[in-house]
Amino acid sequence: MIRTKTWALGAAAAAFALTLSACGTAATPAGTDGGAGGTIRIGIKYDQPGLGLQEGSSFTGFDVEVAKYVAGELGYGEDQIEWIQSPSPQRETMLEGDQVDMIFATYSITDARKERVNFAGPYFIAGQDLLVRSDDSSITGPDTLAGKKLCSVAGSTPAQRLKEKYPDVELVEYNTYSLCVSALDSGAVDALTTDNVILAGYAAQAQWEGKFKVVGNPFSEERYGVGLPKGDTETCQEVNEAIKKMISSGAWQTAVDDTVGKSGFKPDDRNPPEVDENCGA
Ligand code: GLU
Repeated sequence: MIRTKTWALGAAAAAFALTLSACGTAATPAGTDGGAGGTIRIGIKYDQPGLGLQEGSSFTGFDVEVAKYVAGELGYGEDQIEWIQSPSPQRETMLEGDQVDMIFATYSITDARKERVNFAGPYFIAGQDLLVRSDDSSITGPDTLAGKKLCSVAGSTPAQRLKEKYPDVELVEYNTYSLCVSALDSGAVDALTTDNVILAGYAAQAQWEGKFKVVGNPFSEERYGVGLPKGDTETCQEVNEAIKKMISSGAWQTAVDDTVGKSGFKPDDRNPPEVDENCGA
């Protein structure tokens, strides 16, 4: 698989180089060196409870569980996974620069991103929502944000949507959502906007107990895909097969229950999703 993958990357790089006539990172060979004995570099979030969270030397969350399952189907044991932090603003760049082999990081499939990366999946569907302080009853949805100060993450679809559809709302952008949570706690902002499943994780986190609530009025469709280097269709198909098996075997539901389900979050009826056989093309 990996030799083919190297070839596929090489071919993509060659095509890219032909088109643009120069590309510094394209010559870098694929990072994995074999299912047996090699390692696979997987990008996740480190600060999103229930999805991708670093706790000492271990990593927990739904993205982590899906990543472990998929890696297993591709021939990599858990001890062959190298976890790498992939903050929202850096995901495309990390795949283009061969810093990771794949990304499971609440990563929405979008047309703009598809110009730079491939997506397997989706493996989950979330919706943009709002996190507010528990005693705030003035914010009930996106149409109640006039005069409010919001926080989100640079390069994320929720930040983009806010700027496009609600240009009058003041937006502060950080690199991670956990920084926004602290800003919400201190009163520096009035709300944090991103996917409902992410917000539910913060609301349920022991350190913030009782402080925040999710508004519960989702206003987008965020289809979480597995980010892959552009042109890597073969790996994409293998990942899609693994996701389908995870869903049909019940392992997907178990992973939901053991991770985001613990925060009281229930995936809506768009879940579990059907994978896109085109590999997001
Ligand atoms: N799913 C959205 C995105 O990919 C928001 C979550 C995130 O920033 O990871 O931009």
